[in-house]
Amino acid sequence: MTLVLEDNLEITGHDLRLAWPLADLAAGDTASPFMRIAPVGSAARVEFTDEALAAALQDRCPDLHRTDPSASGGRLRLVLWSIAAGISVIGLAIYGVPAIAVRLAPVIPAAIEARLGGAVDGQIGKILGDPPVCDDAPARAVLDRLIERMTTDAGLPVGPAITVRRHAIANALTLPGGRVVVLSDLIDQSRTPDEFAGVLAHEFGHVAAHDPMRALLAASGSSFLLSLVLGDLTGSTIVIAVGQAAISAGYSREAENAADAYSVEVMRRSGGDATALATILERIAKDDEKGEFAGLLRSHPFTAERTTRIRTMAGTETIGRRILDETEWATLKGICRNVPAKSAT
Ligand SMILES: [Zn+2]
Repeated sequence: MTLVLEDNLEITGHDLRLAWPLADLAAGDTASPFMRIAPVGSAARVEFTDEALAAALQDRCPDLHRTDPSASGGRLRLVLWSIAAGISVIGLAIYGVPAIAVRLAPVIPAAIEARLGGAVDGQIGKILGDPPVCDDAPARAVLDRLIERMTTDAGLPVGPAITVRRHAIANALTLPGGRVVVLSDLIDQSRTPDEFAGVLAHEFGHVAAHDPMRALLAASGSSFLLSLVLGDLTGSTIVIAVGQAAISAGYSREAENAADAYSVEVMRRSGGDATALATILERIAKDDEKGEFAGLLRSHPFTAERTTRIRTMAGTETIGRRILDETEWATLKGICRNVPAKSAT
């Protein structure tokens, strides 16, 4: 984030560009070196600690101390920490501006995203009827090695945490904070380890792009920001809504295409069959005779165009490769052997 004082106060950052006329600016009632500046009548504001900038603003803004911009109350506050070269801006606060907030997804502090992911994870468990966690030790070891191989140099913001839960729907859900919940029927439905790994790699693509956080900010906008400020995450309606959305709604087509491309790249690099993602999507769509489009298909709509694109990106040179050998795959398939079958709801 950078602040530049010219004819306007210019604020630039990741996908963010604002220019505030100096005549409109008002300073909040803060203790030095903190300074909070907002255009009168606007919902946005910026906070910083740079004393030279503060002095320059005092000189050049005609009516800087007319009102406290925070006095109107009821506004939402999200402070994001960043460091800008040459100026010690310590935060930008955006108030009720969801369109901008969505673009801030990549810079939401990891600790906040992690906390949110934990809350949504708990909520997902409840929505699905608390399906038991599958962690047969030898299978888990195979899975952990596979994840390690797939995520090395994969450019992920966090090391993803994968939980497998016994459930009769084939799906994988990516939550904020790099959490991925795999429902065990996805493993059952996968005919090769590469089909399973291809879906997993697609989910890692969502992690890499911060898609769960983007979706959350887009869906809940300022309400999420409010719960963030109040520290009320676990029980909030937002978390419940996000849990529901993670299960039944997908991301934008652009986000899905990007995650497919990511999957192809990871599969290629990890020694797998990069076309297997297309194969499993096609087969599940074909098997879905009733057209219910549960699970994977509901959150990842199948289209011929999509699988064609995956196959085109993947090319032919990886076809038939196996990311796990037969013994490893047989072991991984038994990951739920430690928990009893749960009747489908
Ligand atoms: Zn997806």
